[in-house]
Amino acid sequence: MNNDWQAQDPELWQAVQAEATRQEHVIELIASENIASQAVRAVQSSVLTNKYAVGYPGARIYPGNEALDRIDEIARTRAQDLFGAEYANVFPHSGTQANQAVYAAFLQPGDRILAMSEHAGGHFTHGQAHNFSGQLYDAQFYGVDPTTECLDYAQIERQARAWHPRLIIAGASAYSQLIDWERFRAIADDVGAYLMVDMAHIAGLVAGGVLPSPVSVADVVTSTTHKTLRGPRGGMILAKHQYGAQIDQAVFPRSQSGTLEQIVAAKAIAYREAQQPAFRQYAVQVVQNAQLMAHVLHETPNIRVVTGGTVNHELTLDVRATGMTGAAAADLLYSVGIATNKELLPLENGNTMGGIRIGTPTITSRNFSATAVQEVAELIGTVLNYPHDEAKLTTARGALQRLTQQFPATR
Ligand SMILES: *Cc1c(COP(=O)(O)O)cnc(C)c1O
Repeated sequence: MNNDWQAQDPELWQAVQAEATRQEHVIELIASENIASQAVRAVQSSVLTNKYAVGYPGARIYPGNEALDRIDEIARTRAQDLFGAEYANVFPHSGTQANQAVYAAFLQPGDRILAMSEHAGGHFTHGQAHNFSGQLYDAQFYGVDPTTECLDYAQIERQARAWHPRLIIAGASAYSQLIDWERFRAIADDVGAYLMVDMAHIAGLVAGGVLPSPVSVADVVTSTTHKTLRGPRGGMILAKHQYGAQIDQAVFPRSQSGTLEQIVAAKAIAYREAQQPAFRQYAVQVVQNAQLMAHVLHETPNIRVVTGGTVNHELTLDVRATGMTGAAAADLLYSVGIATNKELLPLENGNTMGGIRIGTPTITSRNFSATAVQEVAELIGTVLNYPHDEAKLTTARGALQRLTQQFPATR
């Protein structure tokens, strides 16, 4: 077997190299991205990719799964231990497939759900019309209070009472304040709904102990494993023991066939890494860095920090006062070497995104110092306020390149 695929396939190798170079030279502030460890990456290219595992340990379709049974049990147990969960399923291939399996486990097509609107920061797999979840289930959405831009639980309660959903979903992709899991629990109990929390973005902060855990509060919790949790790209489901059998069945055979065993093993490594004191420190630092950025940007003219700050890894900036859309702002920032993404604002009508979302998981993994984080935030302010000042943009580009050299992306 020839291992020299780089030489055999230069076309693909060059593209992979180009991505490695890009990651090294970009200040990555996309809130859903991170840098997985060498160990997490290495096991993904192991022989595990060769083996079919269909079904659960002890009940597989093909023979020869003894080692994979062990790997699955290690991963499942570590997920449970890390999050204090009674039950875990580590097979979902992504956050979306974790959500799909949970809906399959708890809902019938046509059932009602109540979830956070996309404008307020909710995820499109929570019932949006352009996703399977909005086509299979009947969704209504809650937003945020127009003045505080924070969740308004009294309003959510009124909506739940009027709508009678079978499932209430809490959790977001772009929301920088605390979510009161207990309050959601009370609302769900009041209307006889199941409570699902999608903690895809904040799982690492929950694991690191810097945000309250929804695990003992919700009936079921879904997550990705590649965002703040810093594992491989993938999904997982945590739940109360009583729901284990129906969720297992909803994952396999109802929505997936073979496992991605190399990914399951990588999840096991990531769960172990997240148990280490260094990871707790990482989670603390992610939040401190986001708060420092929010502080600097709050003081910057023409930029408004949505909700005024952040308690987690991300913040949304309202950039409309600069005269730019979120898309234009994100393009401009990318042109100087800062990756962010356009974002809907809670109180905007229509779909002209006037915001950008920024997050600190990746730069914290690169060990950016407080001074460096502050400098990045200041440069964001300068670039957004002087979009046509070529001298300022060139200076920013140079300063940002220096930072990427000072804090390498390799972990
Ligand atoms: C990222 C995200 C997902 C989707 O995860 P994928 O792995 O991309 O499918 C689902 N829910 C929330 C809240 C997310 O932020």
